[in-house]
Amino acid sequence: MHIPPVTAVTAQECLLFYLGRMKNNFDLNQTPLVVIWEVTRACDLACFHCRASAQPNRNPQELSTVEAKKLIDDVAELNPPIFIFTGGDPLKRPDIYELVKYAADKYLHPAMTPSATPLLNFDSLMGLKRAGLRRLALSLDGPTPETHDSFRGVSGSFDRTLQAMFWANAIGLPVQINTTVSRRNIHDLEKILAVVRNFRIVMWSLFFMVPTGRAEAEDMPSAYEFENAFATIYRLAQDVPFKVKTTEAQHYRRYLLQHRVAENRERAMENGVPGILPINEGKGFMFISHAGEVQPSGFLPVSAGNVREASVQEIYRDSEIFRQLRDTSNLLGKCGECEFREICGGSRARAYALSGNAFSEDPTCLYSPRAKTHSRTLRCTNERQCRFK
Ligand code: SF4
Repeated sequence: MHIPPVTAVTAQECLLFYLGRMKNNFDLNQTPLVVIWEVTRACDLACFHCRASAQPNRNPQELSTVEAKKLIDDVAELNPPIFIFTGGDPLKRPDIYELVKYAADKYLHPAMTPSATPLLNFDSLMGLKRAGLRRLALSLDGPTPETHDSFRGVSGSFDRTLQAMFWANAIGLPVQINTTVSRRNIHDLEKILAVVRNFRIVMWSLFFMVPTGRAEAEDMPSAYEFENAFATIYRLAQDVPFKVKTTEAQHYRRYLLQHRVAENRERAMENGVPGILPINEGKGFMFISHAGEVQPSGFLPVSAGNVREASVQEIYRDSEIFRQLRDTSNLLGKCGECEFREICGGSRARAYALSGNAFSEDPTCLYSPRAKTHSRTLRCTNERQCRFK
């Protein structure tokens, strides 16, 4: 197995560079960057890795239209830059157009992750665009109908996804492609990108599998496979006209920082570190389930409260779970000792899924922290005030 070469830069060099050049004034203690609302768990696909263990029928505990509008009012107060309607399949809700319009009228920038089923057609895309949808996120998990459809559990899903991309391009609805990375497709990333490049997209988002819902631990890539995939993504991202980001691969930020600094210190100093925000479960990220439970993410199924009883602002800013997750001194194992923990911190969802403890180390990271051999570790009171102690 090929392992990318270890870079010559030290963690301290990377972090001092990062902290000195960081262009972010966003206070993640006050406002999440991303709010994701699972509008329903109903879905006509049967994806092997489904986080929500989605079923064909809607759950009677889903938020009603009135409750949904109250939630949107609440989210608008919080004013996150990114607000996503997810599922299940959001198109299984008949009131979805009304809710997208309601969110757009509140100056949120609604995005959506519909499933590639017959509900996703030219008319529904036009309806969503007219309602004010700002971004359509479609899933593509394999480069061929066989590979993608076996992920999604329904034949024809690959063709429908490509058709939806074509229609969205035709009507001027910005498209993002989401790929769930597991052992089944981790070696196909370049081929998936070759398909994606036939369309106009704004972002390719790679979700590294967390064994929750229907996803099984044996499909999760190893730490070596993660590191190799990071090398591939880093290489591919240099040559595409759209953004490439990872989800549930917080340690890609560590990889990015090590490599950018190692490759060209001078250029890196001039350009800063674009695209690196230290978000993690409950830190810049909030998920609201179909039944109104507020979680640090969809992959970390621990409720910090319900929107039927408390506001999302209150829960995000003050709940014990969210506050503890934002405090990296709670991290255990090598993530707790790691010099990169303020910008990475490891996947709290993966730690929880594998150990039952959301603060334990992320076992899919190849990095060995030096904190035990170097007495100085980085402590931050906020993102801009960090010191080695
Ligand atoms: S050891 Fe943990 S905090 Fe450090 S880079 Fe790896 S995942 Fe991130």
